[in-house]
Amino acid sequence: MKMYDVTAPIYEGMPVYKNKPEKQPTFNRVTNAHVTESRLSLDVHTGTHMDAPLHMINDADTIETIPLEKIVGSCKVFDLTKVEDGITKDDLQGLTIEKNDFVLFKTSNSFDEEFNFDFIYIKEDAATYLADLSIRGVGIDALGVERSQPGHPTHKALFSKDIIVIEGLRLKEVPAGEYFMVAAPLKLIGTDAAPARVLLFEGL
Ligand SMILES: [Zn+2]
Repeated sequence: MKMYDVTAPIYEGMPVYKNKPEKQPTFNRVTNAHVTESRLSLDVHTGTHMDAPLHMINDADTIETIPLEKIVGSCKVFDLTKVEDGITKDDLQGLTIEKNDFVLFKTSNSFDEEFNFDFIYIKEDAATYLADLSIRGVGIDALGVERSQPGHPTHKALFSKDIIVIEGLRLKEVPAGEYFMVAAPLKLIGTDAAPARVLLFEGL
């Protein structure tokens, strides 16, 4: 059984959204005699992570309300590496995306080693299309599902249908196809997102 770890590594100096220094994680490692203990300071949107509706809608649901049944199960990886700028409804219409699917979009972002200010994102018409299809969730290999769109229409279209959003996937090694996904966000309580370990299994 082949397994793909599609999680971004977390370390000081890692790629963070718009290279903002305040978004960098910090590790404070303290050693006393033979005992080492580290303290970690981490933005909840670091690396591969899951967003909760609270991220874009005041007083909305927080990360622990996402049922594991929705994030452990089948998923479909689509190869959109030819897409430039952003994913549109036109890019998605020819794909076999059905109600309740969890779809992961592999784009040229997966080949970037540093933060790319022109990252591929999901345009509003594509998000609305996915919302109308009532998919279960969507994942992308960018640190944002949208890129500076006023009012954040992509997030809002997806959250309006309780569609789960995973950002920051690393899909370079993963061929298009169907997989069994285990997406496990940290069990944080009351937050707008959580870093997640995401694994894809072939033939499960
Ligand atoms: Zn996020």
